[in-house]
Order: sequence, then C-alpha cells, then structure tokens
Amino acid sequence: MDLRSFFGILPPRILYRDASSPVESIPLPEKVTLLWPGKPASFLKVGVGEEVKTGQNLAKKKDLVFISPVSGQVEEVFTLPGLGRGEDLAITIRVKEQDSYETSLEPVEDFSKLKPMELRELIMEAGFDDLSSISNVPAIWPQVDCLIISALDLDPISCSNRQAFQMNAEHLTDSVQLLLSATQAPRCVLAVPDDMMGHVPQNLPGDCTVAGVANVYPNGLREILAKEHGAGRLMESDGNGIRGNTVVVGAEHALAMAVSLRQGRPFVEKFVAVGGGENGQPKSFKVRIGTPVAHVLKEAGLSASPKGKLIINGIMRGYACFSDQQPVTSSTDCIHVQAQGQVFFYQDIPCINCGKCDAICPVDLAVGLLGRMAEYGKFEECRDIGAQNCIDCGLCAYVCPAKRPLVHFISNAKHAILLEESKAGSGSI
Ligand code: SF4
Ligand code: SF4
Repeated sequence: MDLRSFFGILPPRILYRDASSPVESIPLPEKVTLLWPGKPASFLKVGVGEEVKTGQNLAKKKDLVFISPVSGQVEEVFTLPGLGRGEDLAITIRVKEQDSYETSLEPVEDFSKLKPMELRELIMEAGFDDLSSISNVPAIWPQVDCLIISALDLDPISCSNRQAFQMNAEHLTDSVQLLLSATQAPRCVLAVPDDMMGHVPQNLPGDCTVAGVANVYPNGLREILAKEHGAGRLMESDGNGIRGNTVVVGAEHALAMAVSLRQGRPFVEKFVAVGGGENGQPKSFKVRIGTPVAHVLKEAGLSASPKGKLIINGIMRGYACFSDQQPVTSSTDCIHVQAQGQVFFYQDIPCINCGKCDAICPVDLAVGLLGRMAEYGKFEECRDIGAQNCIDCGLCAYVCPAKRPLVHFISNAKHAILLEESKAGSGSI
C-alpha cells in the first residue's frame, strides 16, 4: 500500500487498498447497540421491554431521527462517555431473526415532484445526516455552489465508497438527480478513482461532470475534493454558523439515499472492511448498523488481542476502539485489528526539526512549529498559524521520525480554539 521513495528523499505515496474483493454478509447478531450522541433518555419513545421494528423511528420528537435497524425487544437503555462532548445515549435491542418493517417513509416515484426541503427531510428520515450542514430553514439556506459525489474513500484501508460504486453504479443517475434537487446545487461532480472510470454510467445528467482522481491518499478526503474539484471549500457547520460552498457526499450514502427513498426503506446496513491481525487479509462485509465489533470480528475469523488494538475507520484517521462491544454505526467504514507487536507507540521526544511534516502536509501548514505550540498549550499562536485548517489526514504523524503525536497535539489545539470561539463569539483566547 505504501510505496516508500528512494532513500526517503521524497514523501511516501500511500495507495488506497484494493477494493475488488467480494463482499459477504454478516449474519444478524443476538443484540445490537445503537448510539445517540448527546441525547437524554427522555428523547426516546420506547422503553425497556418494548418491541421495536426495523426502520421504526425511536425518537419521541417528530423532528428527530433515531432509526431501529432491526426488529426485536429493547433490553437496556444507558449512557456512555461520548466521542464528542458529553455523553451518548445507548440502547440495546435483542434481535428477532426476521425483519418486520415499520416506517413512515413512503416510496417516492418522482424526485422532481418534491420540494428541496421535502427531499432533505426524507433523506434525514431515512437515517442519513450527510446534508446536516444545510439548514432546513429556508431563510438561512447556504448557497451550495457545487455538489460532489465521491467514489473515493476516507482512509487508505477503507473501501466502502469504491465498493458501493462498483456494485451499484446503475443507481448513480438517480442519486445525482436526488442530491441536485435536495441541495439546489447548480452543478455536480462525480469524483472517481482513475482506475475505476470504466464503472461510470453513460446516462449521467448533463449538469454532472466526471473527475478522475488518482487513487492515492489523501485525495479522497472531502476537504481536498472540495478544493481540487469543487467550488473551493467544504461546507461545514459549527458553533459559529455555516462555512464553505461545496457539499461532498460519499458514494455509499449517495447511492443508498436514492434506493432508500425509492423503496421507502430506511438505511440499516453498510459496507465495512475488516482486516489486520497476524495473518488477517482485509475482507469486505455488509453489516447491520448496531452490530457489535466483536460479532463482526468473529464472523470475519479475527479476534482482538488483549495487548493489541482495535482501530475504527482506518490507520490514518481512525480512533482506538475502547471495547469490542462498540457497535458499527452509519459512518463505520472499516475495523482494523492490530496484534501486540503491530501497535505503534508515540514517543515523548522533542522535534528534531527535520521538516518532513511540513513537506507532506496537504494544506501547507508549518506543522513542526504548530506541533510544538500545541504541545505547550499556546493555542492563540496555533490559531494564528492556521491550526483550524488542519484536515486530520494524519500524514504528518506518519512521516515523523521522532514519532511525535502531532495529530493529537493539533486536534487538542483545534478543540481548545473552537471551545473558546464558541464561548466568546469570535473573541480572543
Ligand atoms: S494532520 Fe493536519 S497538520 Fe498533519 S499533515 Fe494532515 S493536515 Fe497537515
Ligand atoms: S517530522 Fe517530526 S521531527 Fe520532523 S519537523 Fe516534524 S515534528 Fe519535528
């Protein structure tokens, strides 16, 4: 995957893993766990012991969506320390073998007959939050100058978007029409790895162009696609409002949106790449949302080692999984097992000023300096040299010969800056 340059003079070229392996289905687990970040149990309309159906919205309030991916009985409701701020609500459901569906979604025959806001509401109701940066309040709709549907992946070992694109490309025209209507973007770009151009359908709408992109990391990151192939800046919402002009939706979700709305069935299953361990070759699976990582690993013939690591969503941008009971969510693209001897340890040694991190940073940050400022809590200085522009690609830490935890330092600084900015409007730190 990683082609190191001659004597390390040039930065490494990190290729995305091959996505041509067959996709198997993981059988339903005994129980699923669903996570609802930052929500209290009072937002649930079901309690322990109640029956739920596949596709049922478990949220009490009409404008919220919390879909059950299985049919079964609620066994437990509890809270977990969240990955963001605060706690996540968690609910476990004992699974019945057969799905029985209950959903308010009606199949849509003609997307052009619905208003943009109605389409966005249906997309949200089907369990997708990809358009959450676009407000549903017409008075503050941001201008979307470009929509990108990306068949590239977010990490070198993920392949969800490429696999969905290869297997379901015939639905792309439908997806493009749906997303153009829902976002009101004047144009659409279909970003495709240059070795998969043969899968592009012939009948794309006239306002959709195709961009071939080298299958090299980090070309699939949304910020890079928005800059290189869109209108310049990825649209994101934070505490201070909405910024940017380009919406990027991964091909897996874009295709699933069209199919969900056509069939009137919410999104309950996704592609997950699983690999690593001593001998584990990566394999691809379709997994029901909520399935515990332990169940996926068992079915994939892998197991977590007590002194190893489980990494969710990739070696460059992923995070360590604190328990193998953690569930697959709608954004889980891959699960990577590291055996004890494969775990990478960061070191607490000073920067040797080699400049490798600066040379590889795709957004041209002075990463060595930024890392040192962030390490010593100088967050105002971090903001002044552009810490917020870091796109968390992980390349700086990957090349650092001193094994400095650069991404962790910079993430900490970004978090501190954001916290201060949201407390004080745009005031100083
Ligand atoms: S993680 Fe951030 S600072 Fe490091 S190379 Fe990527 S964009 Fe640059
Ligand atoms: S790569 Fe590591 S050692 Fe080299 S300048 Fe960057 S932080 Fe310092």
